[in-house]
Amino acid sequence: MDYPMEPFKIKVVEAIPRTTREERRAAIEKSGYNLFNIPAEKVTIDLLTDSGTSAMSDNQWAGLMVGDESYAGSRNYYRFEETVREIFGYPHVIPAHQGRVAENLLFSTMVKEGDSVPNNIHFDTTRANIEHNRGRAVDCVIDEGLDPRADHPFKGNMDLGKLERTIREVGRERVPLCLLTITNNSGGGQPVSLENIRATRALLDRYGIPLYFDACRFAENCYFIKKREPGCADRDLHSIAREIFSYGDGCTMSAKKDGLVNIGGFLCTKDPALAEKITNLLILVEGFPTYGGLAGRDLEAIARGLREVLHEDYLEYRIAQVRFLGDLLDREGVPILKPVGGHAVYLDARAFLPRVPQSRFPAQALACELYVEGGIRTVEIGSLMFGHKDPKTGKDVYPELEMVRLAIPRRVYTTAHMEYTAETIRSVFRRRDTIRGLDLVHEAPVLRHFTARLRPVSAGEEKRS
Ligand SMILES: *Cc1c(COP(=O)(O)O)cnc(C)c1O
Repeated sequence: MDYPMEPFKIKVVEAIPRTTREERRAAIEKSGYNLFNIPAEKVTIDLLTDSGTSAMSDNQWAGLMVGDESYAGSRNYYRFEETVREIFGYPHVIPAHQGRVAENLLFSTMVKEGDSVPNNIHFDTTRANIEHNRGRAVDCVIDEGLDPRADHPFKGNMDLGKLERTIREVGRERVPLCLLTITNNSGGGQPVSLENIRATRALLDRYGIPLYFDACRFAENCYFIKKREPGCADRDLHSIAREIFSYGDGCTMSAKKDGLVNIGGFLCTKDPALAEKITNLLILVEGFPTYGGLAGRDLEAIARGLREVLHEDYLEYRIAQVRFLGDLLDREGVPILKPVGGHAVYLDARAFLPRVPQSRFPAQALACELYVEGGIRTVEIGSLMFGHKDPKTGKDVYPELEMVRLAIPRRVYTTAHMEYTAETIRSVFRRRDTIRGLDLVHEAPVLRHFTARLRPVSAGEEKRS
């Protein structure tokens, strides 16, 4: 069997909305061909994101009932702190209500104007928080990590040559810290190897630069190491996690991913002086250090989620489910990015719709078709999200990759849901020659994909494009 059975049974169910094609057509038109504007109650399978969309276990729900909502010193905080220390190994644990707050606290404390911060690939909130502090976010992933078809077991690895060049160019004193995102979300959820983490640490040691992990999907990364890295097959996942984090000075974490909760995050560090500065800032923007913007019950759910996420049965199922969907599509010739990463399958929209030029938003057009066909919501990562006008020439610039991401929420959908999703995509694939592009009607000056409105181009307009 190429798909292990779900390592859980279902105790509570939530009905899935079913809609007719006519209802979906009306909804997509009303949304301005933007899936962010579609009410969730009109979505059958929601693959918009894996963030904050996990199903909690009965054990986590039970944890909510023992939430201690004391302003200071809640017992759940101590359990949360103990769990994080045990898994991540850092002495200072600072709660926050989600990952980007942890980033904001870290960068506003460490990054000064003109500094550069390298990473394999910065996630959008990470980049934005560095740039907000007038720093420069530099991507140093290996070349394979930028090639949708390159086969490499650890496509999230840091390119040590690029990293060292960045440090030399700007000077050690302008690099206050280096990050490593595990798994590499913006590069397709690709893992980083232990060997690469060790080598990155050794290089940074030569310059005395601290290393922080963007640890949102650390458990998925640990599982890939166990499966793919020589000498790791028999290792316990906790020991792999401990080794990874032993090479860092701290981490930022969105518990909305591998914390298996709907809200929460934290920041860890080894540095007591930094922890004190950040804690003072935390009190100003999030709350007292034993709750940091969360309820006591939320901290309990995170503590329990962090223990569950490292179960081998769970990770085997999790990674296999994502790969299963990828295999169903690949077998039928649907173009996807390979190898499949830890949390999502990506459709290659340029190969899927070769006749639609990037100026007509092929990935967005494809995402809209998937919704109309079967009520599946995905997200465009292509010319709508990243296309822009060159400030000097005024010409349109389009990104290299034009993708539709199918992010799989944790423990939410079953094998049959994956089969339904694949069948819907295959139906759209069979009639791909009938799909036309879209035109922008309205766009905001920044992050336009969230609020943009579009319309389908007519057959006549298409010929002229
Ligand atoms: C989601 C995410 C973040 C930000 O976390 P939020 O909880 O959404 O604020 C940061 N880095 C990576 C890699 C992420 O995937």
